[in-house]
Amino acid sequence: MLELTQVRAGYGAINVLWDVSVAAAAGKLTTIIGPNGAGKTTLLRAIMGLLPVTQGQMTLNGAPLKGIPTWGMADLGVAMIPEGRMVFRDMSVEENLIMGGFPKAHRAQVNARLDEAYTMFPRLRERRRQMAGSLSGGEAQMLAMGRGLMSDPKLLIVDEPSLGLAPLVVNELFEILARLKDGKRTIILVEQNTQRAVGVADHVYLMQSGKVVLSQAAAEVDLANLEELYFAR
Ligand code: ATP
Repeated sequence: MLELTQVRAGYGAINVLWDVSVAAAAGKLTTIIGPNGAGKTTLLRAIMGLLPVTQGQMTLNGAPLKGIPTWGMADLGVAMIPEGRMVFRDMSVEENLIMGGFPKAHRAQVNARLDEAYTMFPRLRERRRQMAGSLSGGEAQMLAMGRGLMSDPKLLIVDEPSLGLAPLVVNELFEILARLKDGKRTIILVEQNTQRAVGVADHVYLMQSGKVVLSQAAAEVDLANLEELYFAR
């Protein structure tokens, strides 16, 4: 489980996160929602060691996470699928997937994971030799997800996967997220598509101006109340 307690972080002299406490339970999907500028991406950057945490604590399965550099995350079983997909456009689908493989993995392991990725995303198998730069937005998101899964992470962090995708593709994406909830993997999903995120999640955090303003089991969330809080400034 990932636990953040009273975390403060920001950019230089500008503090963005104000005493944020978030827990992502092992094997569950935790979603972090909130309007533009609420601090969701900043929170993910703090977790990934891309921003210094100036106050508070962060632990992963009880071990301190604060101060661990970004390059140490793979060793801890953490993978992030960034907003905007960030696929290598001039590399093929398959080359992109292989890049996501754990650096120390043996060839046989990489092949087995490739096979798993292709089973999860059959369209990627069809397009394995195609340049990633020529994929549709939905396909590129699937590729980014597939690449994130190649290291078989214990904690998978997904930042705004539905951004800019057509409704049908969004449906497909959320079906995949639901399938990824196999009880073994801990998932943190940052989303602006509140309804869909709550639908797939076990636990919901709502952020507003750098603070957590709601923490609730997804099954107990009242969407009307959530919407009111979401738009309150
Ligand atoms: P969105 O949904 O639009 O991505 P968000 O909830 O992820 O929003 P953040 O990107 O974390 O929000 O931004 C939170 C605040 O931090 C905003 O006020 C933003 O202007 C500020 N911020 C983000 N990046 C930087 C930066 N590099 N330098 C200074 N301030 C930043």
